[in-house]
Amino acid sequence: MKAPQPPAPVEATFDSLGLKPALVEALSALGYEEPTPIQAAALPPLLAGKDLLGIAATGTGKTAAFALPLLNHVEPGACRPNTTSALVLVPTRELAMQVSEAIHRYGQKLGISVLPLYGGQVIGQQLRVLKRGVDVVVATPGRALDHLRRGTLQLDDVRVVVLDEADEMLDMGFAEDLEAILSGTPEDRQTALFSATLPPRIASIAERHLHEPVRVKIAREKVEQGEMPRVRQTAYVVPRAFKIATLGRLLDVESPTAAIIFCRTRTEVDDLTVSLNGRGWRAHALHGGMTQEQRDRVIKQLKSQGTDLLVATDVAARGLDIPRLSHVVNFDVPNAPEAYVHRIGRTGRAGREGVAITLVEPREHRLLRNIERVTGQRIEVATVPTVADMREKRQELLRASLRETLVAGEYDSLRNVVEGLASEFDAMDIAAAAVKLLHEAQDEGRDTEETEIPVVAPPQERRERPGGKFGGPAGRAGPARGPKARGGPPTWDVTRLWIGAGRHAGMRPADLVGAIAGEAGVESSKIGAIQIGDTFSLVEVPESDANRIIAALKNATLRGKKVQVRKDRN
Ligand code: AMP
Repeated sequence: MKAPQPPAPVEATFDSLGLKPALVEALSALGYEEPTPIQAAALPPLLAGKDLLGIAATGTGKTAAFALPLLNHVEPGACRPNTTSALVLVPTRELAMQVSEAIHRYGQKLGISVLPLYGGQVIGQQLRVLKRGVDVVVATPGRALDHLRRGTLQLDDVRVVVLDEADEMLDMGFAEDLEAILSGTPEDRQTALFSATLPPRIASIAERHLHEPVRVKIAREKVEQGEMPRVRQTAYVVPRAFKIATLGRLLDVESPTAAIIFCRTRTEVDDLTVSLNGRGWRAHALHGGMTQEQRDRVIKQLKSQGTDLLVATDVAARGLDIPRLSHVVNFDVPNAPEAYVHRIGRTGRAGREGVAITLVEPREHRLLRNIERVTGQRIEVATVPTVADMREKRQELLRASLRETLVAGEYDSLRNVVEGLASEFDAMDIAAAAVKLLHEAQDEGRDTEETEIPVVAPPQERRERPGGKFGGPAGRAGPARGPKARGGPPTWDVTRLWIGAGRHAGMRPADLVGAIAGEAGVESSKIGAIQIGDTFSLVEVPESDANRIIAALKNATLRGKKVQVRKDRN
């Protein structure tokens, strides 16, 4: 076996790899800006016809890494009845569908036919398609073997075989099926094996069925602790369909001063920007498909506070330095840990604490663990705020705004409005109706749809207990500010402080944590939920430290100003 391939230089582009123009066009239409590391390393040897052993998890872009060379080799429509030119074996029905869809998307312009085969499908339809001959078959081993035994699929013309998620296939007991299938394919085929891990059983399959394979493993260089920005890192596991709703909810809770939301492709950037603007946010897109002039304009707007949210691809946001950036959101887990480090490095600049939020689809949990391994830092998995949490939060902020207005007075000129109604209605009803109006005005333009977002935990987390409201997760530099981060409830009494500066003063959770930890010497892990209103903020702190924190903050400045601090009377 050859030594591992070094990853190709970052500048690798899809058009420099020798792919057919129709494939390059398809990738550009999908909004892919550059190859992911596994693609940059695997495409050249696969395109050169070599066998390959790739160690890569789902989410790294491995599907395109094997699909593009396969599509480059296969001659569309050349198959005889009941034969195929390329066979991709996958462990599950979901993956069979997913990989088929990807191959269809990439190969559409080439006129490639692709068929997924998995158990539970109506066999009649499969038989009809197979009879015509299919360029690429994507199958679970069990179903592939069924067709081989029936003679409805013959492997004599197979040029390329891919074993995708080989470790999963072995875990699911497909070892013998794989052997049987591989032994029925021509000796001179090209074979690629992808696996998230390399246990001895995989090494042994590679030994027997791959011919002098090039081994590709994206080196996971440990990032030195000093190089990691000071960023509070939290992840939320959500099904794809709920990602936009989750993002909206988290933006509400976190109230970023300014945020970059990263997506993998240009298309995703454009779609998400439209969705966010439709939901009442001010978002702008930034990607490589825009002219330099357009990009400069967007960055200028973000720096000058004309934009709060920038939705960007990695390529377009490379090297951006925007001091007012409080949050980085990974709408998708980046394809490589190194990209994660670059992304979150956009915030947490100049010694300030930034916030990084990552939305993880359930099948991507392994990517998250890879990132933790590379960065040596823990990413807490928190629970998405529920509809009830959001309602409670909105009402709490409303109550606090009213209290503040009551304390400040200066509403005498409006008394006559209430007096005019008081003869007709109960005072409590008048007040409630006024609050309703305020509530509606605050929500105007905002998406307040009340969809419950399903709670999903990746396998490792399932055994752990969901956290209480305070939720200071263990083993991390800063506490979670979301309403329900994982971890037990605090073992101390909690008091809530009212601080007389909020969003309008540019206040961010990080400022409060920094001030309380720095000025009063309270460990940041003891600081609980933080809420930022327009003109004030609320922070949960240990009861025993409350007076000390109040005294310390009264002598300090927050966002450059002296602020009022007291125990919240709620
Ligand atoms: P996979 O690891 O193959 O499941 O791919 C994970 C995700 O990354 C899929 O949504 C792909 O569409 C996306 N993807 C793959 N390659 C690229 C690329 N070069 N640029 C952007 N997104 C990509």
